[in-house]
Amino acid sequence: MEKKWVYSFAEGDGKNKQLLGGKGANLCELTQSGIRVPPGFVITTEACLSYLNDPHRTLPHDLMEQVKTHLRSVEEAMHRRFGEKKKPLLVSVRSGSAMSMPGMMDTILNLGLNQDTLEGLIHDTGNERFCYDAYRRFIQLFGKVALGVPDELFDEAFEQIKKQAQVTQDIDLSARDLKDICKKFLQVVERYTAKPFPHDPNEQLEIAIKAVFNSWMGKRAVDYRREFKITPEMANGTAVNIVAMVFGNMSNNSATGVGFTRDPGTGENVIFGEYLVNAQGEDVVAGIRTPKPLAAMADEMPGIFKELMELRNSLESHFKEVQDFEFTIEEGVLYCLQTRNGKMNATAMVRTSVEMVHEGLIDKNQALLRIKPDMLEQLLFPRLDPHTDMQPVAKGLAASPGGASGIAIFDADRAEKMGHNGHKVILVREETKPEDIHGFFASQGILTSRGGKTSHAAVVARGMGKPCVAGAEGITVDVKLRQAIIGEVRISEGDIITIDGSTGAVYLGEVPLIDAEFSSDLVTLLSWADEKARLLVMANADTPADAKRALKFGAMGIGLCRTERMFNDPARLPIVIDMIIADTKEEREKALDKLLPIQRDDFKNIFSIMAPRPVTIRLLDPPIHEFLPQEQQLIDEIDILRNLRKNLRGLRVLSDTVSFMYQNDPAHPKVLTPADPELLDAVILKKEMMLSKVRSLHEVNPMLGHRGVRLGLTFPEIYSMQIRAILEAAAECRKEGIDVHPEIMIPQVCTAQELNRVKEWVAEIHKQVEDAYGLKISCSFGSMLEVVRACMRAENLAEEAEFFSFGTNDLTQATFSFSREDAENKFLPMYNMNHILQDNPFEVLDVKGVGKLMELAVQWGRTTRPGMKVGICGEHGGHPASIEFCHQIGLTYVSCSSPRVPIARLAAAHAAIKSG
Ligand code: PEP
Ligand code: MG
Repeated sequence: MEKKWVYSFAEGDGKNKQLLGGKGANLCELTQSGIRVPPGFVITTEACLSYLNDPHRTLPHDLMEQVKTHLRSVEEAMHRRFGEKKKPLLVSVRSGSAMSMPGMMDTILNLGLNQDTLEGLIHDTGNERFCYDAYRRFIQLFGKVALGVPDELFDEAFEQIKKQAQVTQDIDLSARDLKDICKKFLQVVERYTAKPFPHDPNEQLEIAIKAVFNSWMGKRAVDYRREFKITPEMANGTAVNIVAMVFGNMSNNSATGVGFTRDPGTGENVIFGEYLVNAQGEDVVAGIRTPKPLAAMADEMPGIFKELMELRNSLESHFKEVQDFEFTIEEGVLYCLQTRNGKMNATAMVRTSVEMVHEGLIDKNQALLRIKPDMLEQLLFPRLDPHTDMQPVAKGLAASPGGASGIAIFDADRAEKMGHNGHKVILVREETKPEDIHGFFASQGILTSRGGKTSHAAVVARGMGKPCVAGAEGITVDVKLRQAIIGEVRISEGDIITIDGSTGAVYLGEVPLIDAEFSSDLVTLLSWADEKARLLVMANADTPADAKRALKFGAMGIGLCRTERMFNDPARLPIVIDMIIADTKEEREKALDKLLPIQRDDFKNIFSIMAPRPVTIRLLDPPIHEFLPQEQQLIDEIDILRNLRKNLRGLRVLSDTVSFMYQNDPAHPKVLTPADPELLDAVILKKEMMLSKVRSLHEVNPMLGHRGVRLGLTFPEIYSMQIRAILEAAAECRKEGIDVHPEIMIPQVCTAQELNRVKEWVAEIHKQVEDAYGLKISCSFGSMLEVVRACMRAENLAEEAEFFSFGTNDLTQATFSFSREDAENKFLPMYNMNHILQDNPFEVLDVKGVGKLMELAVQWGRTTRPGMKVGICGEHGGHPASIEFCHQIGLTYVSCSSPRVPIARLAAAHAAIKSG
């Protein structure tokens, strides 16, 4: 049997976009649902692939035969003949693959015109001007897209005639002028291609079909597919749509327009769009004449407007989706030329989802599935006005979404000061450290020239919901000179800059912002998501303020409270430093005794805010040197202090000598000493102790060194203090009748013995606290899984741990042996560009490697402890594709930064609906 390459709109399967392309499939759907579409047919993507795979680029041998057969049917439907002088049929030729894809061939209109058919058309319409206008458009479009003639050659010829005719507007050209233009255009083509313009409509059609097929492999289309990761499974080859021409420019009873079935800006249920009387489609787009809003048609063409509203209703009830459609009215008859799902902003998507459910048009599953979870980001952060024409001066990594403007400030102390004085500040650093935290609080956003998406700046900014652009390597930050250099541009302290943490762009000056909108529609939609989802969604939140925000975004608990942020508070840092530099257990305990009530208050606050939801607290994780200043800074400071001590001693000598010289003079001059040298000695001693500690704590690779549970086991007092603070806070809450569920989580674990030791401390302190308060406290004990060995030993670990939480930031680092801090701006972009790795594994969970480890660990953990609670708290916990994977391997919850909680809730619902 012969292969079928061509399907009429009446027979093609409207669901088969792979075969017929999106446009073709939709035209089949429209035709078959009784909506008036000009007759036509689709040549399949299979024909395209067969042509492209042929070394001589010949069309499948029977393709043109099939095309001709279908053309006969179109001729019959239109009562016109293709290529005949009498009542000629003209067609449009359009590309269309399974995915809508700019970069492929543009539409060719009016194909089939030549001197003969033109005469026929003039005879039919009695409108010479219209016909020459159609002809000149055809020659140019065909010349450009099918024969490769540059547009400028046509434009030059066109302008020449306009000049001769002394007109400025195309509309003022007469039929004669247009006839001259056609003549000139034919010469342009002949000169450029060294061949006459093809006269035979069948030849025109064959050339056009080949041109559409070739455009699939055109540079623009290939680049587009690469950029947007369109794989052959998603779209392979382009279809060709051949459609009978209908004319919106035939008379004043004709028109052309574009419409949205609802307002794509707000989602309001009103028709939206524009039209032009007596015009062809491209006039609306080209902006030559100003179109009118569709609402005006109600007065101008009331009968047609009624039909248009019926068309709108049919489109929505058929496609169950807001449609973006094109139409033409030829002599009072309305045709729908094309339709596709309307692209809308997030506000409109959410509103239309909720309203379409209320109208009974779609069900809740459809309402949830039609919104890509990441889209909600637009609603959760202030963002840059998309209409800005300002150009970025640099690009970094989109590390924490949202837009922010402010004055550039190059150190955290000044940022804090300026922030408190009411200035909007962007903290600009080479990279940030825990001691910069107060600068984060006071800033609108953070810009760093080093570090990746899981760098300190990125993680902290995301946790706070502040925009951050990280690793903007095109920027050289000079903190000492308080300036940043970007190519020729210099940003000095105090200059206004804008960062876009959603794209990584950096602007000089202020770009207007659009506010975040957490609407009641969004609340409704997310409540539906929670009904459908199986995964729970927790937040990563470290402070009471974070916890409040997490609740606002609908978090069902806290999945990760990183206690190091509490240590970094400027009021506490001195105590933390005392604890670190302590030489004896007693000295360390003295400092810890001061920290205990502070931590207890933090936990009590967080528990009360989140009650009755669970709160997972992770004991201290980072290497402790991170709380101390850097070695060079201490060396510089000690140097300055020693010089000062010398000067002070000089002043003391001067003062003593003056007193001695003038001792009998009651009004003798006095020398003031500005500081007490003893105090200075004490300060220098402290700094020297810090320096010696910094040196003794130095590690070649701190991220793989003395941190997490290893640190906890070396300094048991630190973990004991934290455990006591958690349990006492829980006891105080219980006493006040607050229902709390603390969970203690141990970081960086690799053996069950590590867990076992800490668990013994927990049991001992638990008993002490229960005895002291005279009540029972429930508290569970669990482990992070962020070390490869921990995953491999999950079966053993589960004997000690009641729950697991995958720390996929570290687990990704450990599985790939890629440094979290360096990979993202050193070699990962090159890896992605060259397809060595498809995605950035610190952003999109590497399902094949890291995911495999997770899957095994879940299975093994639950062998020991059936139904064990297992979650994820790395950055992947807020990424939709990773969430789908977490659902598939049976995790209990995902935990992510607060502003991603709504995105995760929607993604969790998607995963549940898709898996049935
Ligand atoms: C992790 O490693 O995924 C994690 C959550 O811990 P952190 O990012 O604090 O190391
Ligand atoms: Mg970690």
